[in-house]
Amino acid sequence: MTNAQPTKQNTPASEVWLKFWGVRGSIPTPGAGTVRYGGNTSCVELSADGEHIIFDAGSGLRTLGLALAAEAVGQPLSLTLLLTHTHWDHIQGFPFFVPAYQPQNHIRVLGYEGARRELQDTLAGQMESPYFPVALAQMPGNIVIEELKETSFSVGRLAVRAVRTKHPGVTMGYRIETSSGSICYIPDHESTPGERSGEVGEFIKGADIVLLDAQYTADEYVMKKGWGHGCLDDVVRIAREAGVKRLFLFHHDPAHDDTFVDAMLAHARELAGPMLVDAAREGERVMLSRSPVG
Ligand SMILES: [Zn+2]
Ligand SMILES: [Zn+2]
Repeated sequence: MTNAQPTKQNTPASEVWLKFWGVRGSIPTPGAGTVRYGGNTSCVELSADGEHIIFDAGSGLRTLGLALAAEAVGQPLSLTLLLTHTHWDHIQGFPFFVPAYQPQNHIRVLGYEGARRELQDTLAGQMESPYFPVALAQMPGNIVIEELKETSFSVGRLAVRAVRTKHPGVTMGYRIETSSGSICYIPDHESTPGERSGEVGEFIKGADIVLLDAQYTADEYVMKKGWGHGCLDDVVRIAREAGVKRLFLFHHDPAHDDTFVDAMLAHARELAGPMLVDAAREGERVMLSRSPVG
């Protein structure tokens, strides 16, 4: 076995990139008001150093699966799915993931245990007969579900770390060191004003790209304290203090249309100083440059 085949995207294996397939929080929100930022829930693809990683299996996973299957034209796919937690908006795309129905594919699913049940049972549960016509065990793809115990592990040559976030149940964020820089994916986390030296603030230190839960404005946050999602002003401040190079606002609220997200982004940029800030947009691909990481 070698891993010297070209990647599915026909790009040199040395290129590192992210693509956003779902950036919304809580529930899919299709419609005219969300066309630009997108309505699908959390799903981000990472191609780096010979590995093909998918962060979360929200509804965006469906369209990613269609794209992967079309590009592979029958050739086997080897994918690693990293789950932050098992709330619906992070797993509901899995039953509609076409590569999981193709026997030539290998899909490794990694995550931490749910609040009460094992990861395997939770993923199988949403596909039981009252909810879905095909059981997880009937999917013909080679699916291996591994429950993680450690917060430090590797996927191929990539070093991965995980951190517990402030969110109901067991919820994690991930940090991956690639050959072109470090990426943090933290879709569900309540950044708190006292977080200056808190765990997530430390975890994202110096990262090149950080996707962080920025679901609420400061006004909204007052009403939704303790719900497990971030307040924009705190998120920007914590990322800036951590020396993050580029921040992507993530897990957009279902009630926020494109115009509202635009306004949140404009406000975030006012607070950001030299840090680059964007609002994650479904369909966007972000290249990581090879320039030396400072
Ligand atoms: Zn979520
Ligand atoms: Zn959640």
